[in-house]
Amino acid sequence: MRWRDERGIVHACEGADIHPDVRAYWTLCGKEAPNDCVYLSEREAISCPLRQQPSRAANDP
Ligand SMILES: [Zn+2]
Repeated sequence: MRWRDERGIVHACEGADIHPDVRAYWTLCGKEAPNDCVYLSEREAISCPLRQQPSRAANDP
């Protein structure tokens, strides 16, 4: 998921169903993303400078 903010920065987003009828989205950098503005695009480059990469290091042997 992606969210382009008002400054044109594209953030990576995640979403979750917090209620059967309600889906919430947030960016990986910790902002709330407006539901109506989040879109699915695996190709669009993320330009958020604060993007956090998922880290598996802590659990790896
Ligand atoms: Zn971001």
